[in-house]
Amino acid sequence: MSFSITLPDGSKKDFDSSLTIAELASGIATSLGKAAVAGKVNGELKPLDFVLDADSEVAIVTDKDEAALEVLRETVAFIFEATAKKAHSELRLGLHEAGEDGFFVDTDKADQIKVTELPELEKAMQKVIKNGEKIEHVQVAKAELAEIFKDDPFKSELLAKEADQVDAYKLGDFIDFGFKALLPNTGKIKQFKLLSVAGAYWLGKSSNPMLQRVAGTAFFKAADLEADLKRRQEIKERDHRTLGHNLDLFFVDPKVGAGLPYWMPKGATIRRIVERYIIDREVADGYQHVYTPVLMNLDAYKTSGHWAHYRDDMFPPMDMGDGEMLELRPMNCPSHIQIYKHHIRSYRDLPLRVAELGMMHRYEKSGALSGLQRVREMTLNDGHTFVTLDQVQTEFAKILKLIMDVYKDFDITDYYFRLSYRDPKNTDKYFANDEMWERSQKMLKGAMDDLGLDYVEAEGEAAFYGPKLDIQTKTALGNDETMSTIQLDFMLPERFGLSYVGQDGEEHRPVMIHRGIVGTMERFIAYLIEIYKGAFPTWLAPVQAEIIPVNLEAHGEYAEKVRLELAKRGFRVDVDSRNEKMGYKIRESQTQKVPYTLVLGDDEMNSDSVNVRRYGNEDQETMSLDEFINLITADVNEYSR
Ligand code: ATP
Ligand code: ZN
Repeated sequence: MSFSITLPDGSKKDFDSSLTIAELASGIATSLGKAAVAGKVNGELKPLDFVLDADSEVAIVTDKDEAALEVLRETVAFIFEATAKKAHSELRLGLHEAGEDGFFVDTDKADQIKVTELPELEKAMQKVIKNGEKIEHVQVAKAELAEIFKDDPFKSELLAKEADQVDAYKLGDFIDFGFKALLPNTGKIKQFKLLSVAGAYWLGKSSNPMLQRVAGTAFFKAADLEADLKRRQEIKERDHRTLGHNLDLFFVDPKVGAGLPYWMPKGATIRRIVERYIIDREVADGYQHVYTPVLMNLDAYKTSGHWAHYRDDMFPPMDMGDGEMLELRPMNCPSHIQIYKHHIRSYRDLPLRVAELGMMHRYEKSGALSGLQRVREMTLNDGHTFVTLDQVQTEFAKILKLIMDVYKDFDITDYYFRLSYRDPKNTDKYFANDEMWERSQKMLKGAMDDLGLDYVEAEGEAAFYGPKLDIQTKTALGNDETMSTIQLDFMLPERFGLSYVGQDGEEHRPVMIHRGIVGTMERFIAYLIEIYKGAFPTWLAPVQAEIIPVNLEAHGEYAEKVRLELAKRGFRVDVDSRNEKMGYKIRESQTQKVPYTLVLGDDEMNSDSVNVRRYGNEDQETMSLDEFINLITADVNEYSR
């Protein structure tokens, strides 16, 4: 036997008998042997006792390497399993996984593991770790494991996919499989944390049983764990689902319809302000706002190509029994096309800009749904402009300017441009007309280059009818989402036989530009909640000022007078007249992130003034009611700088 091992620095070592990764590490340097956590053999993570006996590239993984965290986290997940199983012998185990974001273990029992139980389980895990117990790496016959897991349907299902000899690990009596590489004993583990318990469908399929997913994380250094926990806390504080609940903005209840949000009064207020704002902006920019039905004859979607190319995302059609098939629209384009077609159009009508806050339905996969960010019923700030070929570039620039102006008003600064092309390897997902694709993709790129803007190019992200400029933002959880979009389309005008009478008296085909400025109300407001962390600027805040009378009896009437003065000027004001202590009400106003809290007592009442606290600011200031009105007016006007 003779083989050679190539190390990451390119050096080669020859061997004539097999050795483990641990032996290789110690052979290179004693200190490396001590620091080694695992190895990477031809790019694959392997445990320290993995036997090397053939030519291969090997890198020793120490706790300085990213990959070591995966080993550590897998090991902690394994210890969690062993500990949880000891605490509940009837517990069944599902998937386990470790990676960049920590680890999780899916569990199942009659009364599920609860979040309140995690500290106890952590304590039990600490004990195992302190004892430095051995983790034994073994090869076990599949049949033997099948016997061990015979009462565990999830494990049995996973086991079925394994080979005859299964790589498994033992800690005392506990055994499990499906790990890449575990540490040889529990002693190296120092910093770990069980983070959460949440429902997770078996294998991510909503028709499967719901298990409990326990998530956690682990690090080698205390400071790293601390920083990670802080980051997680920040994400949680920004997460629009948490804030949506705490600030009572909206809810989604899978029992009454997954992905179908309910807007509570405060969330609805924010939405109404955004809707009015964007309609005003668009009308000023030459758009004609319309209303069109959410239901349409299926034939329109057959003509448009949605039925052929977009059916997976559509709700099934409703058979009305008399031959009529109705479809919940997934997009508004065919509706706006009807508006265009309703009159004979001439070149003088173009650009014709049709806009609508159009409600649409898309059958998103249940696993993809997320709060307001990804829903099944949504209202798109949609618009279609019909232009001549010569007008495409100018109109494109005009739409982009509108988007940029709007972003400024909403303090949106973290975004990038993405040109989305069709996937050249999967052309049957798109309208088949190579020349049109080439032409429209080139036009779009040309328009961006002329404007001197930076962009990334992405194949396979186009709409089925044409390429897009997508404006991408990041959610609190770090996901990329499309917010705004401008799409060039030569297809639908042809499909629906659109025309206009040109200067020459002949019929010509218009080009269609699809565009969404703030995107859907749902996704946009989810985004706003996250960037503002729920502390909306005054012009958007559902309650702009909270009035707190020091004493209800004595100051209630004055509070009502102040409320009226502000309300009649259009401000959104509440009086907190609950039977609670003043300190509590002030704190509550802060947790609800109300921009202004006005405390009214004797002094204020006797001098027609208010005591003002600005959200997030410890200071308070007494000023006349008139002064306050000036202050809040200036603040509200601030957005349209
Ligand atoms: P995605 O790639 O995010 O699924 P898309 O490219 O299919 O979106 P478009 O057809 O371009 O989306 O839709 C226009 C806008 O609608 C997007 O910019 C986005 O803001 C929004 N949007 C799309 N799907 C959803 C959804 N399921 N929930 C909320 N908003 C959505
Ligand atoms: Zn459209």
